[in-house]
Amino acid sequence: MRKPVFIVVILACLLLTLVTIKVRGQSTTVQNPASAAADDVTAAFKSEAFNEHRVSHAAQPSGDFNFGQQPAHSSHFSFGNNDWHAAPAQEINGSMVYMVANSHIDTQWNWTVQDTIRQWVPRTFFDNFKLFEQFPDYKFNFEGVIHYMFFKEYHPEAWPKLQAYVAQGRWKLAGSWIDAVDTNIPSPESLMRQALYGKRFFKHEFGHASEDIYLPDCFGFGYALPSIAAHSGFRSFSTQKLTWGGAIPSPFAVGRWQGVDGSTLIASLRGGNYVAKVRSNPTSNEYWGGELTNIGDGKRVGFRYFGVGDQGGAPDETSVAWVEKGLHEPQGTLRIRNTSADQLAKDLSAQEIAALPVYNGELVMKTHGVGCYTSQAAMKMWNRRNEQLADAAERASVAAEYINGTPYPRERLRESWTRFLYHQFHDDLTGTAIPQAYVFSWNDELISLNQFAHVDE
Ligand SMILES: [Zn+2]
Repeated sequence: MRKPVFIVVILACLLLTLVTIKVRGQSTTVQNPASAAADDVTAAFKSEAFNEHRVSHAAQPSGDFNFGQQPAHSSHFSFGNNDWHAAPAQEINGSMVYMVANSHIDTQWNWTVQDTIRQWVPRTFFDNFKLFEQFPDYKFNFEGVIHYMFFKEYHPEAWPKLQAYVAQGRWKLAGSWIDAVDTNIPSPESLMRQALYGKRFFKHEFGHASEDIYLPDCFGFGYALPSIAAHSGFRSFSTQKLTWGGAIPSPFAVGRWQGVDGSTLIASLRGGNYVAKVRSNPTSNEYWGGELTNIGDGKRVGFRYFGVGDQGGAPDETSVAWVEKGLHEPQGTLRIRNTSADQLAKDLSAQEIAALPVYNGELVMKTHGVGCYTSQAAMKMWNRRNEQLADAAERASVAAEYINGTPYPRERLRESWTRFLYHQFHDDLTGTAIPQAYVFSWNDELISLNQFAHVDE
């Protein structure tokens, strides 16, 4: 660190509290760091260093990451407010099951991120594009902003096609976080940054973000999550993992999950197997109609995943054909909707939401994920150090700009955050991936640490 800047940073830290107050009080003259971070996420991914890094991961020619080249949408980002997009609510009649077409990608697990970039990501996008051509009413749901970033970087020629499918409402954005990350190890600030940068990318590229947290495969969920999610502007949450062995019986299929401060999410906790196949008309099948929740006036709702995992791809044609059959030729009284994971919460009226069961507490697991929290200690250490150094770098940068006029390094901070945020993935930070995966994880953790440590350079 250069000496004059070092002195400035020391002074800045001493005056931090005063500066924070001043910044809040003079928002018209001094840029608030939070809003600055939200202002423009695009620059981070246009940096040469970031693109070089990605090339080294995939070991194949990279196109320009091109993030932010098509600013067709609003530049305003209202973090914490649900004003980015509101799909029209549909009235729920009778017994309605929301069928969510799913493709799960483990960004790193029994493979590395190289395999994800080379194989799982492209086949997820291109195989679903083919299904769109075959089945006019098919709608697909996909989470993990980092997967979209990879696809845009390595297949820029297909990006406009994706944007068109999203605009048509056929490709549904889900889980507006950087990735489907573990929720027990990361700090609350990390989870809010997942939302900040995740939503920002979706909104910039597609004009809206999803309003849900989509974690079908994560290893349990702490009591703080509903509060963090609600304060990040989300209204719903879905998973199926607790049915693998929760510490307590899953409290409901669809209900309201309440956090420590009283905030609630519309939660679907028994989404069924996220790789479920459809092999008969779902409107007359007891699996698809087997977890219905009363919402008053004789109406009931259910939520079910169907699709593929953990290497991406698309639901099989037979499943999609049966879903289309169920949409057009329903049998009995059950009806289905093939839509996004957050549509159920959008469709429920205030009265129907009030009729839902409420659970107030944590939703942790006693099987599958427990041992992972004491494995791969280095990964946990690097993640925590990044969280701490990111906070220090952010504060010092704001103070340095305020006192000395040193430009706030928004691009560098955003890039550094995103690089380690995606390694909070539920098979990565937890320690359940193969050793080769951690070559990439540790490399990224250390790059971010170096960038935070030398944020002024
Ligand atoms: Zn997974």
